[in-house]
Amino acid sequence: MQMRVGGKEISSADERWIPVINPATGEVIDQVPEGTLHEVDEAVSAAQAAFDSWGKKTVRERGMILHRAAGNVREQHQELARLLTMEQGKPLRDAVDEIRGFANILEFFAGISGAMNGDFIALGSLGDALVKREPIGVCGAIIPWNMPAIIMGWKVAPALLAGNTLVFKPSSSAPLTCLSLASLLELSGLPPGVLNVVTGKGEVVGEGIARHPAVRKLSFTGERATGYRIQELARSQLKDLSLELGGSDPMIVWKDADIGKAVSGVIKGRFYNAGQTCTAVKRLYVHHDIAKEFVVRLKNKVEAIRVGNGLDPGSDMGPLSGKPQLDNVISFVNTVEKKGQGTILTGGNVMTGGTHGKGFFYAPTLVTDTTPECILLQQEVFGPVLPVVPVNDLETAIAKANSTPYGLGASIWTNDLSVVHEVFSSVAAGMVWVNRHLTIPPEIPFGGVKESGIGRENGISAYHSYTRTKSLLLNW
Ligand code: NAD
Repeated sequence: MQMRVGGKEISSADERWIPVINPATGEVIDQVPEGTLHEVDEAVSAAQAAFDSWGKKTVRERGMILHRAAGNVREQHQELARLLTMEQGKPLRDAVDEIRGFANILEFFAGISGAMNGDFIALGSLGDALVKREPIGVCGAIIPWNMPAIIMGWKVAPALLAGNTLVFKPSSSAPLTCLSLASLLELSGLPPGVLNVVTGKGEVVGEGIARHPAVRKLSFTGERATGYRIQELARSQLKDLSLELGGSDPMIVWKDADIGKAVSGVIKGRFYNAGQTCTAVKRLYVHHDIAKEFVVRLKNKVEAIRVGNGLDPGSDMGPLSGKPQLDNVISFVNTVEKKGQGTILTGGNVMTGGTHGKGFFYAPTLVTDTTPECILLQQEVFGPVLPVVPVNDLETAIAKANSTPYGLGASIWTNDLSVVHEVFSSVAAGMVWVNRHLTIPPEIPFGGVKESGIGRENGISAYHSYTRTKSLLLNW
């Protein structure tokens, strides 16, 4: 597939290509241009040229285009989901949910469009004020490979609704769904140049967007280290930055929890998308009184997870999204074993041969008897590996939950309101779930604290973050 700039398909100035590999088979399924700074400049110019007329449309006119696009995405969800599974690996039914999730996000923002007015403020003897919300201009968006459609929706929908134009960079390992969605948005009436997609390497295209002086706001989702690099690149410019970074979400299961529901919550919370979700359950703390029974029931369920090609309807969990991700998980588990930081209760191995062929599959893994230094409790593991730690009291559970540099999400499993209250007020996180984990509805602001980032996706506040207020004071 080609890049999309100014409403046209273009290739790279130096005619180099990046292969897109199906992680379930190791086979090349397509290729995208390895973009250069030349294409970044072209995309910024196209976005600048499109800004004037796009920014002058009413919010509702822009919302209607998003609404039409949502309908077209829903019509084509099967083809889009198949493409997503083939480039990223998640089971087809989860890919269908993700594509529908993209449509949901467009619909949410289209739905609020008629109500996005400015403010009128009566100031008595000072007169009256009008506060208008204007778009910022050309914005940049850079996203990872793990949930490309959803994360694209989080950025594209509020940015475009607010009247900005965009230079968007998908990850090189999962660019195809994003390119197809961009083309569908244009077929739904988005004018050329409003959304430009440049493919290529992070160090070239990503840095080119982050450095570009005409890009007034940049919204990034990805690793913490990349977020720091982007902040450094943008430091010499007055660029508005939103950084959605990594997470190491704790799940706390209290002694009164419904064990069956909580076990199912872990299966979805940790093993959905082969563990490659920013808000996956990355550390599990279970009350001592129920820990033994909990671990036995969890182990049974984990061992029943069917790992295979996402296109096979019998698969519950697909491969890791690529070799670097697989190598990363292997290295974490090796460290645990070599340093005696825990016991591998189940899993702990690469899955090859048979139906797993040359894909990048890793077995769902539970680690118990962890030492306090265990690397799985300190760092973000982007894969299907879960440390399970018993805790005796709430104070300890909360202290452990807060013991990493991250603060993205957290969940508490209980029916005791005082426990919910204590966790909600004391755990450092942008989102706390009660008796669930992972769900991120477009209505709710989402983002991290501490090293998990700055800024928020979703909700009306995301729309506001893509606008600037302009005030008019009327002295009658
Ligand atoms: P990554 O930081 O390696 O890459 C993300 C994007 O940044 C890619 O498009 C990449 O090409 C680009 N990039 C890489 N180096 C760059 C540079 N120097 N300058 C500009 N752009 C650059 O992250 P990843 O491995 O693709 O994604 C996994 C990470 O994303 C995990 O840490 C995960 O927790 C995080 N994540 C966070 C959220 C959230 O909302 N907080 C959501 C999903 C994933």
